[in-house]
Amino acid sequence: MKALIYTGPEAMDYTDAPMPTAGKGERLIRVDAVGICGSDMHAYLGHDERRPAPLILGHEAAGVVVGGVDDGRRVTVNPLVTCGECRDCRSGRTNLCAKRQIISMPPREGAFAEYIVMPEGNLVTVPDDIPLPKAALAEPLACAWHGVKMGARALHGPLSDQVCVVIGGGAIGVGAALSLIAQGATDVTVIEPNATRRATLQTIAGFTTVAPENAPDAADLVIDAVGYEATREQASTLARPGGVIAHIGLGSSAPGLNIRRMTLQEITFIGIYTYTAQDFRDTAQAIFDGRFGSLDWIETRPLSNGQKAFADIRAGLTAAPKTVLIPAHQE
Ligand SMILES: [Zn+2]
Ligand SMILES: [Zn+2]
Repeated sequence: MKALIYTGPEAMDYTDAPMPTAGKGERLIRVDAVGICGSDMHAYLGHDERRPAPLILGHEAAGVVVGGVDDGRRVTVNPLVTCGECRDCRSGRTNLCAKRQIISMPPREGAFAEYIVMPEGNLVTVPDDIPLPKAALAEPLACAWHGVKMGARALHGPLSDQVCVVIGGGAIGVGAALSLIAQGATDVTVIEPNATRRATLQTIAGFTTVAPENAPDAADLVIDAVGYEATREQASTLARPGGVIAHIGLGSSAPGLNIRRMTLQEITFIGIYTYTAQDFRDTAQAIFDGRFGSLDWIETRPLSNGQKAFADIRAGLTAAPKTVLIPAHQE
């Protein structure tokens, strides 16, 4: 099969890779759509020691099961493989499983490829009327959905009464804004510095998009969908007394939080990593039910020219918050 292989910092090779074979309880899936995540960009730049080259990146996949009892089943893929037996798995907090693995991180190859194998329990059936590039958004939207759910739980009062601010208008930021609305929020602002990106966001209904200089000065719930020192500092200044910061971004591990203010003002900080298996299913269902809107803020590109997509994102040339790669059999 063909795959887009990360071979070193800012280098990708679209070439032949061994065809994976499904083991017990697994399914072979023909990948029809796979999104580029911020974490893929991070790895591509050589900044992720958990993802050493050579490696097939990509974990936001949707496609069709090939062979076996499920042949022809259209699916979106939960890329997080967990043990199912530990205390966290049994309590439903599967994302905290100590044995968790995610595809695109050794020992599991990623989905920038024509085929992947996944355990059957990681697959969610996609209705025929939902295009697979949109179904591939289940993964990034689930991260956002989970962050909003955790943030809302820590607030005093319903989401409909809260001022909500999202820092960053990438796919996680847009997903967080749409998740906030889907979960009941009515006052949602996204802060995005890139004017091109901002113009795209302003076409999406339900929330307001502003440049950093026009940001609100206080919020009950702040979602940091970027995760750099400067955005953490901004989040801990923006949060109202008694407010909540949900931190989804993995941009850098440098400091930035105003701990003194957060202590004096009882601001809750919640780290957010991926989603539970239930959040993933709930998010997929919300996509199918249209609760995230029409989701036409994605851009599709051929997997065979994936190098260019990565280079363009790197150069800030993409207006769409999410680029989805399409393997050749679908081009
Ligand atoms: Zn992702
Ligand atoms: Zn477990």
